[in-house]
Amino acid sequence: MSAPERQLPLRGRPPAELLADMQARRAHDLAWREGRVFSLVFAADATVQQLAHDAYTLFMSENALNPGAFPSLRRFETEVVGMTASLLGGGAGVAGNMTSGGTESLLLAVLAAREWARHNRPNLTRPNAVLPLSAHPAFDKAGHYFGIEIIRVPPGVDYRADVAAMRTAITPETILLVGSAPSYPHGVIDPIEELATMAREYDVLLHVDACMGGFLLPFARRLGYPIAPFDLSLPGVTSISADLHKYGYAAKGASVILYRDKELRRGQYFAVTEWPGGIYASPSMLGTRPGGAIAAAWAVMQHLGEEGYLRLVKEVMEAAEHIKQGVRATEGLHLVGDPPASLLAIAADRFDIYQVADEMSARGWHLDRQHKPPCLHLTVNYAHVGQAEAFLTDLAASVEAVRRARFRSAGQRLLVGSAAAIRRLLPDSVFNRLSARLTRSQQQPAQPGRTAPMYGLIGVLPDRGEVRELVLDLLEQMYA
Ligand SMILES: *Cc1c(COP(=O)(O)O)cnc(C)c1O
Repeated sequence: MSAPERQLPLRGRPPAELLADMQARRAHDLAWREGRVFSLVFAADATVQQLAHDAYTLFMSENALNPGAFPSLRRFETEVVGMTASLLGGGAGVAGNMTSGGTESLLLAVLAAREWARHNRPNLTRPNAVLPLSAHPAFDKAGHYFGIEIIRVPPGVDYRADVAAMRTAITPETILLVGSAPSYPHGVIDPIEELATMAREYDVLLHVDACMGGFLLPFARRLGYPIAPFDLSLPGVTSISADLHKYGYAAKGASVILYRDKELRRGQYFAVTEWPGGIYASPSMLGTRPGGAIAAAWAVMQHLGEEGYLRLVKEVMEAAEHIKQGVRATEGLHLVGDPPASLLAIAADRFDIYQVADEMSARGWHLDRQHKPPCLHLTVNYAHVGQAEAFLTDLAASVEAVRRARFRSAGQRLLVGSAAAIRRLLPDSVFNRLSARLTRSQQQPAQPGRTAPMYGLIGVLPDRGEVRELVLDLLEQMYA
């Protein structure tokens, strides 16, 4: 690829030429349409994709910041929130909004909790939230933004939230508990009923992060899968988030945050009355709110309906079951915990699972590497239906390749052990750049697509604080 253009072209270019250029630039993007990419893209069938596209385009220019200006958008949003609430046990008083994604929904839930505490616990000096280690990093972001201490509690042996340990972690300054349905890393569902009881006992709030499960678990339950109650039907649950741009199969930029009542929601609202530009009121973090994301979410929900979601979820759950059984049947591999739905994590008993990831990459699969414990992450969705057998075949071949290589280089495993700590933190793209940089500095040739040989070099990196700085440096460079 040529160097990035850094100046506005003097003469504008024609649309057809630009679109062709943009298509060409996709050459090195992840090819998610083949159903070999996990975690970043959720896609239903072509009809749904096209509808989301068309609906988005129709409202591309409209702005949902002012709810009075575009009654169409306000109505779409109200209906999306209403439909979501009806799926997630919401009763009469439930109130919510659409947001740009799971992160914004979680930021708002934590902000609303802080405002709730300001009114109801005015004497607190350093409010905190108690959450399982597995809860999404957006909670740390929220704590960072809003001055809430985030207390992380290690999971139980089943990787679900350890309710007893969370109880021990609660302090007089605790305002919020969190559980996930399911957790992103391992796909297990926290014991939400017990957390809800505990939240009531301590008179604190409980947010359920159903960003992943919100548009999947209700349908899985209707299909007969044993899904314990996790939503607003439990009295102790005070807010819940569900991402439309995941298992809702809407366009990117769509999530829903729901609160038990509108008093709680009030904490996320914001208004300034003395600005020369007029009275400025905003329901969420964003100013301008893209109409397209709201319109596309509404259209997809209306198109699929309950029957459509049931059909998609049935196929997704079957594909996930297929993969889970295949993993369990593969010698040397196991699932982390017992994930009941469509997210799962694969770990190895006696060899390096990250080398399996390299082998899978070489076979065209994109899997995220996780740590604590080392494992590979799968978000099985409709894009993967029909791919389970191919996945398992390649997985078996990958395991076999790693086993064979293991005999050749027993000594390398030591290096792998220390380096894995860093490798597991980084997505492929970041890791490849890091590897390239380190390789340049060591004057050694890089091996494209193979990250394991880099472990030795990465292993010489110092402590975690420096790793964090390094990751931030790389992020900075990517947007240079
Ligand atoms: C995806 C996800 C989030 C964050 O959502 P974004 O849309 O990426 O901002 C939060 N929690 C869980 C459980 C998720 O899966």
